[in-house]
Amino acid sequence: MSNKRIIVVDDDPVNRTLISSVLQEYIILAAPDIKTMYQLIKEGGLPDLILLDVMLPEVSGFEAARALHQEFRNQDVGIIFVTSRTEGHAVKEGFDSGGYDYVKKPFDSLELIARVKNQLERLDREHKLKSDASLDSLTRVYNRKYFQDLVEQKINFCNRKSMKLSLVMIDLDNFKQINDSFSHLAGDYILQTFSSHVSDSLRKYDLMGRFGGEEFVVAFIDCCKECSYTIMDRLRDEIDKRTFIFEGNEIHLSFSAGIADSRESESRNDLYNEILKLADHRLYEAKDEGRNQIVIG
Ligand code: GH3
Ligand code: MG
Ligand code: MG
Repeated sequence: MSNKRIIVVDDDPVNRTLISSVLQEYIILAAPDIKTMYQLIKEGGLPDLILLDVMLPEVSGFEAARALHQEFRNQDVGIIFVTSRTEGHAVKEGFDSGGYDYVKKPFDSLELIARVKNQLERLDREHKLKSDASLDSLTRVYNRKYFQDLVEQKINFCNRKSMKLSLVMIDLDNFKQINDSFSHLAGDYILQTFSSHVSDSLRKYDLMGRFGGEEFVVAFIDCCKECSYTIMDRLRDEIDKRTFIFEGNEIHLSFSAGIADSRESESRNDLYNEILKLADHRLYEAKDEGRNQIVIG
C-alpha cells in the first residue's frame, strides 16, 4: 500500500469505481466534478496526482488543468487525463494545458497502473532535485542563495501591501569550542537540532536559511523588528536553558543575533542586502557586549 494520494475526477460513477479498484494500492479520493475536486484539495492539500476526465459538467478537464497550474504556480500539480476524447488535437490540447500524460478510454488496467507509477516516480525525482537545490544538506533549512531569492520575492510582496519585513542574523556563540571539546559530529548535531528548534517555532510564512557555517538568517514577514525581537528573545532563552545531549555528553549552546527591518532602508533596489548589513552590524554589537543577546538598534 502506497501513501500517495490520487484524486480521480470523473462524472461517471462506473468509471470512478473502476479506476479506484485498479489503483487500490494508492489512497484514492473520487470526485464527480471540479467543484468537489477543489473541496478535496481544500481539505487535504494538493494530492500527488490528479486523474482528470475531459468531458465534465460545467468546466472541461482541459480548462480545469489550466486553472490548477495557474493557482498552484509554485507547486507540482501532476495531472493525467483519462478520457474517451481520442483525436490527435484533443491529446495535443491535453499536453498543452499541462497534463503530464494522456490515457485513452476504455483503458487497459495494467497500462493505467504503469502510467500512474511512472508519473509518481517522475514527480518524486523532480521534488528531490528541487529540494537538493534549495535546502542546505546538513540542516534542511534553505541554503543562502535560495533564501535570498525567496526573501527578495517576499520584499516585493511586502512593499506592495505596505507590510514590514525584518531580517535576523544569528551566529552561534563559541561554536568552535563545541567542535573542539566534543567533535565535529557533535557540532553537526547541534547545527541540526538548533535549526529544527528555530524553524519549528516559526509561523509557516516566515523563512529560515543557513547563511554559512554556524550562521543563520530568519525573515519575519509582516513583522517589525520589535515583534521579531520578542519571538527571537524567547527562542534565545529556550536555547540557553536547553541541554543538548550527544553521545552521552551534555552540551550547552547560546546564540547572538542582530535584527533590522524594512523601515530602516531607503533603498528600493537592494533592500535585502541593506537590511542584512544592518542586522549583521548589530550581531557584532551583540557579540561585543558579551554574547547570548539580541540587538535591534
Ligand atoms: P563566536 O562566539 O565569536 O561566534 O565564536 P565561534 O567559535 O562560534 O566562531 P568561529 O568563527 O571562531 O568558529 C565557527 C566554527 O564553526 C568554526 C567552524 O569549524 C565551525 N563550523 C562551520 N561549519 C560547520 C559545520 O558544518 N559543522 C561543524 N561541526 N562545524 C562547523
Ligand atoms: Mg560565525
Ligand atoms: Mg559563532
